[in-house]
Amino acid sequence: MNDQLKMSRQRILYVVLTVLLVCGILACIFFPQLRSLFSGRQQEAQKNLFAMDTYITMTAYGTEPEAALEEAARRLTEAEKLWSVTDPGSDIYALNHSHGQGVTVSEDTKDILSFVLEMAEETGGALEPTIYPVLTAWGFTTEENRVPNASEITSLLAYVGYDRVRLEGNTVTLEPGMMLDLGAVGKGYAGDLAAEILRERDITSALLDIGGNIQTIGSRPDGNPWRLGLRDPFSDGILGVLEISNMAVVTSGSYERYFVAEDGTRYGHIIDPETGYPVDNGLAAVTIVVDEGRVGDALSTALFVMGLEGAAEYWRQHQDFDMILITDEGAIYITEGIADAFSLNEEHGDMALHVLQ
Ligand code: AMP
Ligand code: MG
Repeated sequence: MNDQLKMSRQRILYVVLTVLLVCGILACIFFPQLRSLFSGRQQEAQKNLFAMDTYITMTAYGTEPEAALEEAARRLTEAEKLWSVTDPGSDIYALNHSHGQGVTVSEDTKDILSFVLEMAEETGGALEPTIYPVLTAWGFTTEENRVPNASEITSLLAYVGYDRVRLEGNTVTLEPGMMLDLGAVGKGYAGDLAAEILRERDITSALLDIGGNIQTIGSRPDGNPWRLGLRDPFSDGILGVLEISNMAVVTSGSYERYFVAEDGTRYGHIIDPETGYPVDNGLAAVTIVVDEGRVGDALSTALFVMGLEGAAEYWRQHQDFDMILITDEGAIYITEGIADAFSLNEEHGDMALHVLQ
């Protein structure tokens, strides 16, 4: 073989090796999961805590998952301190006892309030963050449940109206008698804040279970989607499995908190702001699948209020999320975007599954 041929073969080899090296480096830059896999430092850590009236479990994979989870947990606890309705030190407590005076709130509270007011507007008031006085009359805030009479409900509805909340900079003003409650969005919103911290700390794979609201970062560490059980609203079991990555899965249903009155009527904790009565529209549960927990949480509550037809109509108009609706009769309605990602458990094979298009 002459020298020239040898040289050119060597050059080709160099070029190929260089290209492979560059591709490898680029892959590691753009797929951090791959990077930590190569460095052999992908570790698992878990953190449990009780905050926002619920059990929270966070599982994260990355190079330093413990420290990231500690920080995320601190963020969740901070959020709870600001938004609790019962903690006298919270922004929401100060607002609910402000007697019409303006209250200066933290940046986080200002942000969540502007988000919830926007979603209230977007959902035509189905999400109603000022429903608290009515919720209290039903005893859902104290667990001393009772059925208020019609005139009591009518008079309390006078204090309900998200469009009368004044938000100017960091100053919030409620009319005397009005009260705020972030119960419908707080968990999803706080979940986003926790997820943001985990992402900033190079966590590429995580699952946050905030009282049944699930928020995921990336896929499972093996690269497969997360497999989430969809709770059966009629029993403690699982209806089916949803396979998703990098999404929030948030469910609302009256089965989560309800009481049974003396006459046997069941009353759930989600109130129809139009009537002041607990929602009873034929829906048993609404699950929203969307990239942000806050949006999932706001929509799950609002679409539960809207009912099957209203929710389907809202989805058709927006189409920027997916959902699963379960009726009291046990029929399941699922939007086309996640229809293939959901499989019913065998024992529920008789349930009617409709795909919304
Ligand atoms: P979720 O479990 O996210 O659906 O939130 C339900 C909680 O939101 C209830 O326990 C109440 O604190 C509050 N809530 C009830 N009805 C409404 C409503 N129509 N809009 C906003 N919040 C509500
Ligand atoms: Mg909600």
